[in-house]
Amino acid sequence: MKKIGVLALQGGFVEHIAALRQLGVEAFPVRLPAQLKGLSALVIPGGESTTIFTLMCEYHLADETNRLIAEGLPVLGTCAGLVLLAKKIVGTNQGSLGAMDIQVRRNAFGRQVDSFEADLDVSELGAPPFRAVFIRAPRIEKVGKRVEVLAALPDGTPVAAREQNLLATAFHPELTGDVRFHEYFLTMVDGKFKAKTASN
Ligand code: GLN
Repeated sequence: MKKIGVLALQGGFVEHIAALRQLGVEAFPVRLPAQLKGLSALVIPGGESTTIFTLMCEYHLADETNRLIAEGLPVLGTCAGLVLLAKKIVGTNQGSLGAMDIQVRRNAFGRQVDSFEADLDVSELGAPPFRAVFIRAPRIEKVGKRVEVLAALPDGTPVAAREQNLLATAFHPELTGDVRFHEYFLTMVDGKFKAKTASN
């Protein structure tokens, strides 16, 4: 049985655990380095990226997470979790795991649209479109060559992306009851990303 850890230092981890359990996998909160052992995958939820990263460093989770990512651990980062995966966060010198080749800007959709929803066509998920909830979302400004954009807003702004074992969304797939993004993530856990990389 797959064991999925959800980083539970701050932010919206409860909803991710519920979505994953709905899909029939074992999902539990992770707060200590020992709980990273033997995981099939890890979710980094939304919340406040500076707070989460400070706590990750304090609890000695950051280095271990990066080591596991380098070994191929599948990680889903949503909203603040996407910020934490990003190699570069523009306009601030806050730290991140720096594991994914994307450049992001925090809270970049402007005050008047702090929160919004959009229907996204995601070919990996098929029909119908995925209703995405954005809350003070980060904007992905650049993606590296090995990053695959899975979904974009009508103006072309990427809002879901994947780089091998890393999946990141600027929105909150755990909030709508539509578990297709989590389901897609679980296919990555099954190792399908390896096959894809090997054929490149
Ligand atoms: N604005 C938050 C940050 O950059 C992310 C918001 C969220 O996760 N909903 O940390």
